[in-house]
Amino acid sequence: MTASTVDAAATRFDGRPVFVFSTPPTPNGDLHLGHLSGPYLGADVFVRFQRMNGATAWHLTGSDDFQSYVVGRARAEGRDPAATAAHYSAEIAATLRLMDIEPDQYTVTSVDPAYRSGLRAFFARLVGSGSVALREDPGLVDAVTGAYLYEVDVSGGCPHCGEPTGGNICEECGEPNACADLLAPRSARSDAPPRRDSVTRYSLPLHEFRAHIAAHHRTARTPARLKELAERLFARDRVDVAVTHPSSWGVPPPEPGADGQVIWVWPEMAYGFLHGIESLGTRIGRDWRADAPQADWKIVHFFGFDNSFYHAILYPVLYRLAHPDWTPDIDYHVNEFYLLDGEKFSTSRRHAIWGKDVLGPHSVDAVRFFLSRTRSEGRRTNFETAAYEAVLRDRLVGAWQRWLNDLGARIDELYSGAAPEPATWTPEHTAFLGRLGTRLSALTECLSPDGFSLNQAAETLDGIVEDAIRFSRSESPVARIGRWRDEARTATALELAAARLLAYTAAPVMPRFAAGLAAALGVAVPANWPRAVTLVEPGTRIDLAHRTFFGGQPGDRQPGDRQPGDGQPPVRAGLPPASLLPWLRGLVRSTLQLPEDEPVDDRALADLGMESLHAVALQYQILEEIAVDIPVEDLFGAPDVDALARLLDERTAEDAARPVTQGVPG
Ligand SMILES: [Zn+2]
Repeated sequence: MTASTVDAAATRFDGRPVFVFSTPPTPNGDLHLGHLSGPYLGADVFVRFQRMNGATAWHLTGSDDFQSYVVGRARAEGRDPAATAAHYSAEIAATLRLMDIEPDQYTVTSVDPAYRSGLRAFFARLVGSGSVALREDPGLVDAVTGAYLYEVDVSGGCPHCGEPTGGNICEECGEPNACADLLAPRSARSDAPPRRDSVTRYSLPLHEFRAHIAAHHRTARTPARLKELAERLFARDRVDVAVTHPSSWGVPPPEPGADGQVIWVWPEMAYGFLHGIESLGTRIGRDWRADAPQADWKIVHFFGFDNSFYHAILYPVLYRLAHPDWTPDIDYHVNEFYLLDGEKFSTSRRHAIWGKDVLGPHSVDAVRFFLSRTRSEGRRTNFETAAYEAVLRDRLVGAWQRWLNDLGARIDELYSGAAPEPATWTPEHTAFLGRLGTRLSALTECLSPDGFSLNQAAETLDGIVEDAIRFSRSESPVARIGRWRDEARTATALELAAARLLAYTAAPVMPRFAAGLAAALGVAVPANWPRAVTLVEPGTRIDLAHRTFFGGQPGDRQPGDRQPGDGQPPVRAGLPPASLLPWLRGLVRSTLQLPEDEPVDDRALADLGMESLHAVALQYQILEEIAVDIPVEDLFGAPDVDALARLLDERTAEDAARPVTQGVPG
């Protein structure tokens, strides 16, 4: 049954294969929330939404084994780079699974059997173009060991913005450096100031391609931030980018003249993307070849700002040199730094909240929602554990789950547990349906390629719930009045339509929640993006009253890992109406250190031995766990614990602005 329609172009890919890349992570550590919130969640949601709209889209990533940061980590851990890469690569893959991110292609560069030869052939094409050639330039070596210094092994002031930076790329301004141009360079290999030397490497005169990059940036989705970076970079007279470096960890170029060098891991990645497409094709029976990229390939890149130079400036030039007949069609999605306590998340410094510390089957949707809501789109944002807990408690449990449970309870009570058929429509009903249609349009817009924004998607999903709660509250006065039965049926049917819309539109962001909600509404797992707001088929069994969607289970880990008193999660969904009593009973016993079986329900707190220090502790616990600030006088004033539980029920109902009062006896 279609009630309101929305017509939006959710995809503009016209049946072309869509390859969505998240930057292959470096296996020098596990993934933290900064990584997860950026390219990985972005690419995952993007692909899920595209598939719901019928696009043939895949998420490709992998393990970028040949990074110098792997060598640095291996040195610190006393193992060889291959063992370090294998260890963290497996950890990363496991963390992605915990986050419900399952890439369709996961290339592990150091072990993929066809990777080396394909990369060397790609490099030969670059050299064959005539633009990539041996060139002697200044470099840095460690003054004590003589080791060549780049990337992880050198740091100093950025020659372009002055901020502290590592070798080769500045995370602050996004510009590449040549290491030898670092201000006051420091070696990671010894305390002595690095020595300047000259080194002959394969090099690319990138400055010759300024016009090509500007043209490329006009053809597809290129955030202004990237265009501005290109403008800044090409203001230099020359930008010579070394594409090989002295190292033993990586793939040596096939050409002579660079003995003891490997193809730099960043140019390597340009090939890695094409290789990933070929590998995916081999598995699904499509004849895609890394050495023959096709015009109909749609490529979408998700990456952090610190990788912008490589993805959006270097790679298009390498593709032009290696495959001059190919015009790559690439959309770029860039995120800024996600901060933790005001500082950058850092794998190497281990300043991070790790995915494995917070992700589990019962928390993954809440984490995905919170990261969507707060990830760094267009600006730096900060992760705070307290903010996560507040969103979980106040929105996902306190509003979403409470509304859905309450809706289920009313359907059980008034319609014998089945979806009612709408009867009489009022102007407010029509307006609410229109409002849901607007939310659907907005979600379609902010999950579509051009306007893709998870910040806005999370806000709009929350908006559906907010609209529904407001509507429910305003309709509740006639819910149980016989004369207005037909209007009440329509209102409930519309609340169910809102829940159904939520299940469908939340699917890309929170797939488990969406599937669980759909099951509770008696509808199939959402597979297609809705074009309209649709009612739940009248007569369908609704099983919402006692479902727990959020709020965790005992044993579930949450950021901050707070012990919830007696093991009972706060505001547990499915709690019978008007009863915080079992929870309060446990809290009173633990606060007053009473035996487990001590009867407390019909006794006053003072009678149980509560003194003012206990009262303050209890007051604090109540505030922490159910967010009700109850005066100490009220604690002492309650005739007994049962009465106090009822008082708390009323307060939580008021605080969360419950849509319908659930028969609190009074
Ligand atoms: Zn800089």
